[in-house]
Amino acid sequence: MTENYKSEKAPINWVVTVVLGLTFLAAITIVPWYGIAQGFSGWAWVFFVGFLIINGVGIGSGYHRLWSHRAYEAHWLLRLFLAFAGGMAIQNSILVWCIRHRIHHRDVDDNDKDPYSIGRGFWFAHIGWMLKDYASGKLDWSVVPDLERDPIVALQHKYYWSLVLLSNVVLPVLLGVLVGDIWGVFLLAGVLRLVLSHHVTFFINSLCHMWGSRPFSDENTARDNWFLAMVTYGEGYHNFHHAFQSDYRNGVRWWQYDINKWFIAACSGLGLAKNLKRVPDFKIQRARLSMVFKRAQARIDGAAENPRWRSLLETEYAQFKETINQWQQLQLERVQQSRQKLVEVIDQSTLKARYRELEKDLKLQRKRLALLTAQLYA
Ligand SMILES: [Zn+2]
Ligand SMILES: [Zn+2]
Repeated sequence: MTENYKSEKAPINWVVTVVLGLTFLAAITIVPWYGIAQGFSGWAWVFFVGFLIINGVGIGSGYHRLWSHRAYEAHWLLRLFLAFAGGMAIQNSILVWCIRHRIHHRDVDDNDKDPYSIGRGFWFAHIGWMLKDYASGKLDWSVVPDLERDPIVALQHKYYWSLVLLSNVVLPVLLGVLVGDIWGVFLLAGVLRLVLSHHVTFFINSLCHMWGSRPFSDENTARDNWFLAMVTYGEGYHNFHHAFQSDYRNGVRWWQYDINKWFIAACSGLGLAKNLKRVPDFKIQRARLSMVFKRAQARIDGAAENPRWRSLLETEYAQFKETINQWQQLQLERVQQSRQKLVEVIDQSTLKARYRELEKDLKLQRKRLALLTAQLYA
């Protein structure tokens, strides 16, 4: 890996520096001062929370899962809402955001190519990458040809700064006039909301590549972090996301807190979203088990020779390979059958039953391995 970035002299991006700097300063000085001196109305708090959630959904369900990853398809009404809600968060237009995000996935952890590579430190990955025009942040328009065809995306890009002013100044002031608390609504729902919304999103690029677990893959720095998932409406399950980026869920298990996953599913129920992409459960289990084997193997290799553990693990691994072989065979059969148009109702249900059987095998094996590794790590 080359490391040209070390000798790079990048010019300061003044627009971003001033916007991020001034809003942050106001949030830690004027906002608390006004709160103590004047107090905020209940309405100011209501708009503050409402705008925070709207921004989070705009970025998570819109910019990220819909436009960057095409994890589902959305009706134009939903796209219009997401383009507004995401633009309000002032994180650049959909087009620019998606270019950088697609490159982040493609070249993750490459310090010269990943626009917010964690290899360049916490500060750089969190905010530093935006404050200067680095070579790694250069816009490569060839990665978003599909988005340039979306008229709502094009419109949002063209009128981005008007949208920013309308949603961040005009809207809070108008609402403030309506409820009789102009400064309160502007400072809480305008300024503080924006700064909080900024930094929790930035945590995905910084902390979610530093702190947390890696249950699905250790091929990159992305981590699953339930606490960050709580403050980012589900985006904190970042290890799963980097492993299976086209899935509309980030918190893949039903109990994992992921507001964006529920929002997209609800929109699908209302007919506003369709073709929600899900990675087959078998592939997810396979990734998790591969990681368990990898860790157990490293543990055994590092410890004193223990033939019993080694042979137990080898037997389990052979069985794991066998289950995967059977699954691949089944995939092949399914493709051939559908090609020959031989799949009848009865075949479909046999296929489904065989898939379920293999999924069950993996689940049972994961339970056995959990017991085995619990003893191994004791
Ligand atoms: Zn992503
Ligand atoms: Zn990432």
